[in-house]
Amino acid sequence: MFLGTAGSVPTARRAPSALLLRRGGERLLFDCGEGTQRQMLRSSVGLVDLDEVFLTHFHADHTLGLPGMMKTFALRGRDATLTVYGPPGLEELFRSLRAIFGRLTYPYRLVELRAGEELVRDGYVLRAVGVDHRASAIGYALVEDARPGRFDVEAAAALGVPPGPLFGALQRGEEVSVPGGATVRPEQVLGPPRAGRRIVLTGDTRPAAGVLEAAQGADVLVHDGTFGEEEAERAEETAHATAREAAELARAAGVRMLVLTHLSNRYFGPEIVREARAVFPETVVPKDFDIIAVPLPERGGPELVKGGALARREEAGTVGDGSGGGGGGPRGGGGDPVDPPVGGDRVGASSGGGAAPDGPR
Ligand SMILES: [Zn+2]
Ligand SMILES: [Zn+2]
Repeated sequence: MFLGTAGSVPTARRAPSALLLRRGGERLLFDCGEGTQRQMLRSSVGLVDLDEVFLTHFHADHTLGLPGMMKTFALRGRDATLTVYGPPGLEELFRSLRAIFGRLTYPYRLVELRAGEELVRDGYVLRAVGVDHRASAIGYALVEDARPGRFDVEAAAALGVPPGPLFGALQRGEEVSVPGGATVRPEQVLGPPRAGRRIVLTGDTRPAAGVLEAAQGADVLVHDGTFGEEEAERAEETAHATAREAAELARAAGVRMLVLTHLSNRYFGPEIVREARAVFPETVVPKDFDIIAVPLPERGGPELVKGGALARREEAGTVGDGSGGGGGGPRGGGGDPVDPPVGGDRVGASSGGGAAPDGPR
């Protein structure tokens, strides 16, 4: 769920970086740019008491929303622990943030992760990925465990396994004795193990070897797509990627879908998606409140659901595509002129002014 897709500075249409990854009942927030709590309030999820926040790095456009959100949790009287993960330097960041959020009603825990370290969880690992942003920075790869192969009921029957508890035991990988005394091994009735899902989030980065490795065969690669190729030099200077560079990496890694985010405020989206698709057709550039649904691999590929994260009351009339054109509009300003306003807010009404964007952080 894309809560913020802007790079460096917010625009009327795009908030700074934040992405909520939902898996089963879990909700993992990656980066927390300014205004993330309000983006969550406007989303179908609401501002839930998150258990965990994962930071890719400490630039302001990825972290400014955190002290405000932590304060709100305290004002609600939260008592559950909040765990914040990030690259080395996290402790130091919190020495400064503490002065802003003050006294909390709940404890928080800080966990610094280096590239290659992983959190082993029920059904998946979350691995810190090496990136190149000329700052203390990591990406994250969520890699699900392989699942047992399909159970072949006919093969089991032919081997004399009666339906019931023995089926379950075989599915769990245990050998069983069938009536008559023969032993049946799981591999006699189970197909090959089925791959789990793999989702890689880079945060801000140049094209990086660590990302290429982590993204091999990934279902979804969410990559820095700050600039178009005409800003290649700027991308290099500021340690970001161009759409084409990200697309080349996605092609080399053989991902199923490339998702570009962190757009510089001089781009509206269509020009970035065009450039990337010339190299890697399976590319999308979501807007705030878009969702990427990632089914299990055998059930189809990942899919962009436009406006899929908008709360019901904001949905009417807001999920139009708007991706056709826009490139010809004024650059360097605020919102995307082809977008309908979200929820009737007068967002974008006073945007822009054409101020030159600050350097991407
Ligand atoms: Zn950034
Ligand atoms: Zn940055």
